[in-house]
Amino acid sequence: MRELERNRDAPDTGASTGLRSLAVIGAGRTGGSVTPAARAAGLDVRVGTRGTAAVTAGGSDITLLCVPDESISAVCAEVATATDLPAYVGHVSGATGLDALEPAARRGAQIFRLHPLQTIPAPGTSLAGVPAAVTGSSPAAAEVARTLARRLGMVPFDLAEEHRAAYHAGAVLASNFVLTLAETAADLLTRAGVKDARAALTPLLLSTAANWAGAGPAALTGPIARGDEETVRAHQAALAGLAPELLPAYTALADRTRAVAAVAAYKNQGGTPVSTPKIVRTREELRAALAPARRAGTRIGLVPTMGFLHEGHASLLRAARERCDVVVMSLFVNPTQFGPNEDLAAYPRDEAADLAMAAAAGVDLVYAPAADHVYPPGFATTVEVGGELTNVLCGDPARRGAAHFRGVTTVVAKLLNAVGPDVAFFGQKDAQQAIVVRAMARDLELPVEIAVLPTVREPDGLAMSSRNVYLTAEERIRARALNQALTVAADTARTAGEGSAIRDALAAAGKVLADAGIEPEYLEARDAENLTVAERFGDRPVLIAVAARVGRARLIDNVVVQVVQVVQGA
Ligand code: AMP
Repeated sequence: MRELERNRDAPDTGASTGLRSLAVIGAGRTGGSVTPAARAAGLDVRVGTRGTAAVTAGGSDITLLCVPDESISAVCAEVATATDLPAYVGHVSGATGLDALEPAARRGAQIFRLHPLQTIPAPGTSLAGVPAAVTGSSPAAAEVARTLARRLGMVPFDLAEEHRAAYHAGAVLASNFVLTLAETAADLLTRAGVKDARAALTPLLLSTAANWAGAGPAALTGPIARGDEETVRAHQAALAGLAPELLPAYTALADRTRAVAAVAAYKNQGGTPVSTPKIVRTREELRAALAPARRAGTRIGLVPTMGFLHEGHASLLRAARERCDVVVMSLFVNPTQFGPNEDLAAYPRDEAADLAMAAAAGVDLVYAPAADHVYPPGFATTVEVGGELTNVLCGDPARRGAAHFRGVTTVVAKLLNAVGPDVAFFGQKDAQQAIVVRAMARDLELPVEIAVLPTVREPDGLAMSSRNVYLTAEERIRARALNQALTVAADTARTAGEGSAIRDALAAAGKVLADAGIEPEYLEARDAENLTVAERFGDRPVLIAVAARVGRARLIDNVVVQVVQVVQGA
């Protein structure tokens, strides 16, 4: 901002570029605002419209097309017929590419875009201080566009052509979508009985915008910033009754807000995010980025994830940050661990939010390869842990099957090879996965420590999972039964004590699930280390694991019970 203000204080005179004359094609809102600003800046301005574009443009230093997006190409073709073609031809659209100016470029003009990042409601709107995105077909064209913007009183910033659509989406988010949100909020208040909802909301909306302009993510207040998920759920329940069509939007925005809150919380703790994590997409970039750390012999930590991060992932990232010098997070939805009828295509993805959470947790490097980079044509090697471990629970052929774990161990082996970490971090939430990965590392003598961290839960006990996003409000409430069932099983075991039959604990857990209308895919007790069937509680830890479909979501959870000395592992 300071940089922008400095620029504003020192408008460019244009002397350096010899900019004297400007042809403005179009006399609408933007053209009608550019023209007076250019005249006030001392430029010789001619104004034309479609039909007179060639005559108007001929002989000008710069021709600026201020016409509707869909006409740019046609009007540019007219300009290109001018006998004395202008050296520079630009347009003012945010959504349209430079390619719309091809007709002028073909005849030798340099082309540019100059997009005012502000709504221009009428001709004669002041452009003073308006930020303007500038893209040129050459450094000279970009410089001319910057100079013109400054002469008009605007504050230019550079935008690469390849990021035009992303930039424009950002503009739509900040303007159109904010209006949509405000209108939606007003509609909700009206339904809640508030009389003049717009008047009631206006001070809040304006002060929020002003606070954000001053403080960025630190200006975030409200239940999500406070970590008050109870209130968020109350909102969702209220919406389910009063405005169910708004639930998906609310839920998506709540997720997004959690990512913003994570960054804000980190900054509030006195730091900038430890990192703006560097994102790499190939093993070559990854190796190059890690080379200095490896040479220096520092400790590298890896947290493999499939993204759509939540607090469970964040706990692994924080542990890695604490224990390691360099933290690498992989972000890869691994196709080979999904069965043909599973949710690969629908698996939730939000790379921007993941990067924000990674920054908040202090990740140094995010490895986010494309699927065909990990599995190029000809890929034919897999890593499989044999025996019981991968054939029971989720690995049962009637469920996800051993192929699921083959996909997991293959990708984890590849990630371990690519990153070469000292420690890799996994969650107890996927207990069988952690056991299988440990077995692989042991059997293949991989020089890595496999650290397994406790399951992170929502306040009501539901294990956090990227797949929870599939749950409707009603299913979300029913899904609590998974953890409740496991808790009942653990309590039953503790009460009955050493030697008690596991089937009694499972029966009690099964009843909780049945009461919630949940039919488990499995609810089983197995030795927590080797996954053999366990029959009685004793001095060995017992893993009680459950998998169940709730609506679209296949959820898993587990608890580890040791009646002699209870281990809070899950
Ligand atoms: P995913 O992105 O689902 O593949 O998970 C990446 C890692 O995060 C795995 O090691 C998971 O076990 C772990 N994880 C997922 N959910 C949780 C949770 N609720 N608590 C702790 N770790 C989790």
